Amino acid sequence: MVNGPDGRQEGPEQVPEQAPAQPRALEVREATVRYEGADRPAVAGASFAVSRGEIVALTGPSGCGKSTLLRAIAGLEPLEAGAVLWEGEDLVRVPPHRRGFGLMFQDGQLFGHLSVAGNVAYGLRAQRVPRPERETRVGELLALVGLPDYGARSVTELSGGERQRVALARSLAPRPRLLLLDEPLSALDRGLRERLASELAVLLRRAGTTAILVTHDEEEARVIADRRIAMRDGRLEG
Ligand code: ADP
Repeated sequence: MVNGPDGRQEGPEQVPEQAPAQPRALEVREATVRYEGADRPAVAGASFAVSRGEIVALTGPSGCGKSTLLRAIAGLEPLEAGAVLWEGEDLVRVPPHRRGFGLMFQDGQLFGHLSVAGNVAYGLRAQRVPRPERETRVGELLALVGLPDYGARSVTELSGGERQRVALARSLAPRPRLLLLDEPLSALDRGLRERLASELAVLLRRAGTTAILVTHDEEEARVIADRRIAMRDGRLEG
């Protein structure tokens, strides 16, 4: 310790007021999932957390347990052990449709009998959002994904890339507190996949989305996510 010019003792560098730690939105604690009859769990003791607004990628080879972990977070697979928490609340008794999480899959799973706008409005209808507000929100989302004039079209007329954009708009429309993306671009050909990966990175940030992306494609994970977590044989690495 030394004396400063004004005679005051200077201690170790003054620590500025501590910035509050990033609040944990999602926390997965020691999650284990085992399919019926399997001798080994598909996910074993997985622990990680996601902050609000953060985009985390789960990567690893096919069969390592990524989708299973994502489905467990969604509440679609029961946990054999461990817990999934949202802002500290254990979700064990909260069914998938009450978790406030959005899901988007590889094949989009659009409803063929509904128009593009009808698909995007689907979750809003389920939430009983009044029609004028619903129409405004659908317009915003279609603009966000670059398909502003597509509302009246049939989804059967769309290209693969357009379908995935509509699927993204549909999953974002109800403002999910967490978006779970399972290989959202894997069914597309390479050029389109690369272009859409960059677009997705921008769109998710513009919407302020907290998200978990499952992909076997490291480059895609690097482009889209803030942080990557590798999985192998049911376990998180690192
Ligand atoms: P990834 O998403 O990394 O490709 P999955 O989570 O789909 O991996 O699969 C992890 C393991 O669980 C694999 O061994 C797979 O065969 C098995 N598995 C996945 N789904 C089921 C299921 N519904 N029933 C039984 N085993 C499954």
